[in-house]
Amino acid sequence: LPRVAIIGRPNVGKSALFNRLVGGNRAIVVDEPGVTRDRLYGRSYWGDREFMVIDTGGVITLSKSQAGVMEELAITTTVGMDGIPLASREAAIARMPSMIEKQAVAAVDEAAVILFIDGLVAADIEIADWLRRNYSDKRIILAVNKCESPRKGQMQALDFWSLGFSPLPISAITGTGTGELLDMELDGVEEDGNYIPAIAIVGRPNVGKSSILNALVGEDRTIVSPVSGTTRDAIDTEFTTEDGQKYKLIDTAGIRRRAAVASAGSTTETLSVKRAFRAIRRSDVVALVVEAMACITEQDYKIAERIEKEGKACVIVVNKWDTIPNKNHQSTTYYEQDVREKLRILDWAPIVYCSATHGSSVDKIISAAALVEKERSRRLGTSILNQVVREAIAFKPPPRTRGGKRGRVYYTTQAAIRPPTFVFFVNDAKLFPETYRRYMEKKLRSDAGFPGTPIRLLWRSRK
Ligand code: GDP
Repeated sequence: LPRVAIIGRPNVGKSALFNRLVGGNRAIVVDEPGVTRDRLYGRSYWGDREFMVIDTGGVITLSKSQAGVMEELAITTTVGMDGIPLASREAAIARMPSMIEKQAVAAVDEAAVILFIDGLVAADIEIADWLRRNYSDKRIILAVNKCESPRKGQMQALDFWSLGFSPLPISAITGTGTGELLDMELDGVEEDGNYIPAIAIVGRPNVGKSSILNALVGEDRTIVSPVSGTTRDAIDTEFTTEDGQKYKLIDTAGIRRRAAVASAGSTTETLSVKRAFRAIRRSDVVALVVEAMACITEQDYKIAERIEKEGKACVIVVNKWDTIPNKNHQSTTYYEQDVREKLRILDWAPIVYCSATHGSSVDKIISAAALVEKERSRRLGTSILNQVVREAIAFKPPPRTRGGKRGRVYYTTQAAIRPPTFVFFVNDAKLFPETYRRYMEKKLRSDAGFPGTPIRLLWRSRK
C-alpha cells in the first residue's frame, strides 16, 4: 500500500488530519520490527485506492538548549531573505538529525510526505530544508492547515513559498482541500512514497498518439487505472526504460477509439481539447504531438498555452517524419522554424522528429522527457542564481522612470521546483516592466539552463 506520513511541529493539527484521512477506520498499531507505538498507522481508501497514513506524533524533540536556538532563530526574522541569517541556517541544518526524532525519519523513509504547517516558524523551515535535501524523489506536499475561512491571499504569502514547496490550503477540521491533497499525494506514488513521473501524450486526433504509445510499450502493457475521482478519459500505462526508470504514460487517444465516435466536427475537437487539458493537469511532462505534413492549428496552440500555464515540462513531437520526402538539414530547419513560430509560447521545449509507424526515433521522446523532467525539478544554488542576476543587471539595468526612480534587486531565491520558481526581492515591483521581466527570464535561461520546462519569476516589493 502507498503510505503517507504526516510530518510537522506539535499542535499544527496532525492528529486531526490523521483522523480526517482515516475517517471512521480505527487506527492500528503495526508491530513490525523497529516500529514502536509512536507511529500510528491508519488504513483508508480514496476512491478505489487503498492507502496507509502514518501519524508521526511529536516529530521534533527539542532539548532545552536547542529550543533556545530555535527561539533565537525565530526572533531574528528581519535578517536574511527568509528571516534566517544564512550562517545560522546552515548550522541549524547540520544539527537536524538530533532534532527530528528517529521515528519521524523512519516514517518519512517509507512514505510519501505531507509537510503540515499552520503558520511559519523557524522549525518549519528546518523541517522543509531537511526534506528537500534528503528526499528529492519523494512526493512531498506542503499543506497549510486552518484555512477553513477564505484566507486565500495568505497562500500567496511569500512566507509559505519560501519553504520550497507550493502551499496547498486545507482544513483538517472541516475537510476543506483534503480531497485535493489526497489526489495530489497519491497520484503516481509508489509504496515507498517515491513517485513515477507521468508523461501525457496529447495532440489532435490522428497525429499518431496511439501509434507512438504502441511503439513505446508494445501490446503487452500494464494498464494502471487513472486516479479515481477523475473522469475515465485516458488510459494510464506503466512503462520501464532499459535503464530501469519507471514512467507512467497518460494516453488520451485510447478511450476515443471505444467511446464517443458519434459526435462529429467541432464537438469532437472541443472534447479532445478538454481531454488533453485534464491529462496535462495530471502529468509532469507533456509530449505534444503534431504531424509533420499538417499545419499547426489553433487547437495545438490552445494545448501549448495550457502546458505553459500549468507549469508542465514539454517535448514537442513532430510525428510522421517519414512522410516528408527528400529530407535534408534544411527541411529540419524549415520545420523547426515553422513550429517555433506557431508555438512560440513553448520556445523552451525541445523538438523530437520521429516516425511511430517505422519505429524510428520514438525512444528519443522518452530520453527527452527524462531530461526535461529533471530540469523541472532542478534547484539552482543561491549564489549562482544571484550571480546570474547581478550580471544580467550589470549588462542591462532596469529602466529609469520619468521621476528618476530605478528598480533595485536586493536578493533572488529559488522558492520552488516543478516548475522552477524564482522570487526577486526588489525595492518596488512596479519599477520592473514586463519587457524587463522577460529579459531577466531569457538571461536566466541562457545562463542557467532549464530547457524543456516553464520557469516562473515572481517580483516582490520589500519596504
Ligand atoms: P491518434 O489519433 O493521435 O492516436 O493517431 P493514430 O495513432 O491512431 O494514427 C492515426 C493514423 O496515422 C494511423 O493511420 C497511423 O497508422 C498513422 N500514423 C501514425 N504515426 C505515423 C507515422 O509516423 N508515419 C506515418 N506515415 N503514419 C503514421
